[in-house]
Amino acid sequence: MKEVTILSGKGGTGKTSVAASLASLAKNKVMVDCDVDAADLYLLLKPTFRQKQEFRGGEKAVISEDKCTGCGLCREVCRFEAISSEYKIDPISCDGCRFCYNICPADAITMQQSLSGHWFTSETRYGPLVHARLGVAQENSGKLVALVRQEAKHIAEQRGLDYIISDGPPGTGCPVISSLSGVSLAVIVTEPTLSGIHDLKRVIGVCQHFAVPVIVCINKYDINSENSHQIENYCQTQNIEVAARIPFDTLVTRALVRRIPVVEYSRNRVGREIEKLWQVVTGYLN
Ligand code: SF4
Ligand code: SF4
Repeated sequence: MKEVTILSGKGGTGKTSVAASLASLAKNKVMVDCDVDAADLYLLLKPTFRQKQEFRGGEKAVISEDKCTGCGLCREVCRFEAISSEYKIDPISCDGCRFCYNICPADAITMQQSLSGHWFTSETRYGPLVHARLGVAQENSGKLVALVRQEAKHIAEQRGLDYIISDGPPGTGCPVISSLSGVSLAVIVTEPTLSGIHDLKRVIGVCQHFAVPVIVCINKYDINSENSHQIENYCQTQNIEVAARIPFDTLVTRALVRRIPVVEYSRNRVGREIEKLWQVVTGYLN
């Protein structure tokens, strides 16, 4: 079984549109949405939810009123100002650093596992889907990414599926690193803007650091041919294949509004370029 993850140096490059189209083109696969902070692949794949599970990824401090003597030490040390003058802890502000827990002379503070979000397994007409939703102001998204990937792998093994297709998180932080370990290929979707080029270089650097093979897809490549050339030149210096050049077309937005993968909405030049991308991907995976 091979896993391909679709990344972008930042949000809004068309990564999820490409992921949904690959879901439509690929056979015998499980889809996983690793963008746990803002999962939206499910909106396009229209799943039937099968299972909802709690994700407890962190700890929060809780003060026992019965034991607290009101000495004030915990308030002094909490650099997140999470403890009120009545010695109540705001769970959103609490970082779970345990400083107060360790310093409290009355053993009045306990650390309790907090509900950080949920993860879901579903069926779609493209096959199974695993995705998650991290709660507001919750951390540990890297841990949740690892969890949804593990579940996708479990489903793939159980059903004898060939591929895991992962809609990766944007950016280059901890969730991206968590989405990369052990994958066979990263497809980076970028756009020909100065910030797009900057973010592309950063995410390529992360993939190279973890020795993950990379191919690049330039979305809306024709809105700025000079910047597209810059991307191509850079990829050439890094020995990276530019596998697809998707033209700008308003039908992509129309397909999104109708919640249909763009390759199904129209077999025009956008769809053909994404089909070409999938052929290149399978060439790397097989
Ligand atoms: S350090 Fe412990 S005893 Fe002192 S105010 Fe905080 S919770 Fe209460
Ligand atoms: S665990 Fe850390 S952040 Fe939370 S209340 Fe205690 S000192 Fe503040």
